[in-house]
Amino acid sequence: TKEDVKSYLFRNAFVLLTVTAVIVGTILGFTLRPYKMSYREVKYFSFPGELLMKMLQMLVLPLIISSLVTGMAALDSKASGKMGMRAVVYYMTTTIIAVVIGIIIVIIIHPGKGTKENMHREGKIVQVTAADAFLDLIRNMFPPNLVEACFKQFKTNYEKRSFKVPIQSNETLVSAVINNVSEAMETLTRITEELVPVPGSVNGVNALGLVVFSMCFGFVIGNMKEQGQALREFFDSLNEAIMRLVAVIMWYAPLGILFLIAGKIVEMEDMGVIGGQLAMYTVTVIVGLLIHAVIVLPLLYFLVTRKNPWVFIGGLLQALITALGTSSSSATLPITFKCLEENNGVDKRVTRFVLPVGATINMDGTALYEALAAIFIAQVNNFELNFGQIITISITATAASIGAAGIPQAGLVTMVIVLTSVGLPTDDITLIIAVDWFLDRLRTTTNVLGDSLGAGIVEHLSRHELKNRDVEMGNSVIEE
Ligand code: ASP
Repeated sequence: TKEDVKSYLFRNAFVLLTVTAVIVGTILGFTLRPYKMSYREVKYFSFPGELLMKMLQMLVLPLIISSLVTGMAALDSKASGKMGMRAVVYYMTTTIIAVVIGIIIVIIIHPGKGTKENMHREGKIVQVTAADAFLDLIRNMFPPNLVEACFKQFKTNYEKRSFKVPIQSNETLVSAVINNVSEAMETLTRITEELVPVPGSVNGVNALGLVVFSMCFGFVIGNMKEQGQALREFFDSLNEAIMRLVAVIMWYAPLGILFLIAGKIVEMEDMGVIGGQLAMYTVTVIVGLLIHAVIVLPLLYFLVTRKNPWVFIGGLLQALITALGTSSSSATLPITFKCLEENNGVDKRVTRFVLPVGATINMDGTALYEALAAIFIAQVNNFELNFGQIITISITATAASIGAAGIPQAGLVTMVIVLTSVGLPTDDITLIIAVDWFLDRLRTTTNVLGDSLGAGIVEHLSRHELKNRDVEMGNSVIEE
């Protein structure tokens, strides 16, 4: 009918607009590059993109809380237990597969031939031990003050650290101040912007702690019968309201993405610094991520559900492009929700339960990347890794991907854990910083894809529990 055509066009208008935004943003970026804008000018130019990031981040916190609470409350404890198990098994399996792919690909392609002496370095790395980071992760699961957990927490529990200090190696901050005050101010702003947030955080906020609390809280009010009714309704209604705000932001998203991409292209380093090894490394990461995202994950989805993975992925296009544009799986979360629920018709009880957790801990792209990058660094150091060390790398890369926040370049920070675990020089992270902004976008897209296909798989596996629950609650049951 005419209505169908209209709604079809309406839905695809988003995808069309978003794809156009990527293309126009890329062209615009390359057109403006020759003008060599200053840091401040780039900031002005990419302002519409910055606004999109902020709008999305604004919704993430209430979205995580309301969806997890309602998601847990809508399930009985047996169903949520089973669903949780399935999600965890899926997360672990896919993360480990991703790590293995990363390791195999980097060993086969061997991008780190030669030495690192002629390679370009960027920034400075500050030490963190694996034990510190791990304890921080556990600590953050139990925030002592829930209100405080919602605020930006740049300090970790043991030290303040910054990973990328954009000062030339031969130029200290002091001399920068003497030479040019405004430049120094910009440098300072960049340093503070790039201070590393606590592990498991979203935009500096302790998301992991809120995830753990919301799940427990949802579980409790789900089992409270009449007494819990008011709270269940409150969170349900809050969730619905947030999703309506997401619908509004979706209209703005293409414009924001356009400027995010154009701004990044304008400001990126000249490709001249990328030598042979770094170029090979970039190709290796791309190949690894492609194998995981285009072959392994869709195949897994098909094997489990017997449904066409490409139709499912088609429905996710806007979320995937948002991930590419924002390089943050947390900021993409609102859009991921919309795509899964509206385009792919995934049961809300599943998305609410699985997506916030997935966005916080399930990062296939990051895991693959961290294992691969660690072995690349071993290669450029001519450091022979034995089998035990490769196993150590796979374990720490998995842990590091769980600990990485869903924010831009978080994976680069948790790399330190992987490198220290096998005694590789952490300073060598500076060798791969030049291309990280780009690879980050690709691994974020892979992360979002993994979370979304996971929701599809968990829904399929949990269909009986969901149906039983519907019968129990007297909901109308739709037969497949
Ligand atoms: N940017 C990634 C994400 O948000 C994390 C990473 O740096 O690997 O998913």
